Amino acid sequence: MFCPKCGKETDASGKFCQWCGADTVGPIVASLGMLIIVIPWVYFAGFESSRSQATPGKVLVHAVVTDLDGDRVSFARATLRHFGKFISLLIIFIGFLMIAFTKKKQGLHDKIGGCLVLRQD
Ligand SMILES: [Zn+2]
Repeated sequence: MFCPKCGKETDASGKFCQWCGADTVGPIVASLGMLIIVIPWVYFAGFESSRSQATPGKVLVHAVVTDLDGDRVSFARATLRHFGKFISLLIIFIGFLMIAFTKKKQGLHDKIGGCLVLRQD
């Protein structure tokens, strides 16, 4: 691989350029991370705030995204909705973690549903 800073060929197994000491892995990881966040965001928020009000997948099942009045959402609102999914996922994840820390071994989803998970010995 080539160093992004000095352009010299450097040992691909190293994290840092053997010539100038530049971080060769960080910028790649950072740009991949950006793509992983940006591509779904632009895809979902872009399509859902477009005239079709739906991603191609939603179009197939005749679903649209609207605001509370049934109108087309702005890109900003679609963005908020998109990143809200991550919060939901995070809460679910925390909900699962709670199983380990609560007295009755309840996850958040158990508490919400009023359920217990019992093991039979
Ligand atoms: Zn270098």
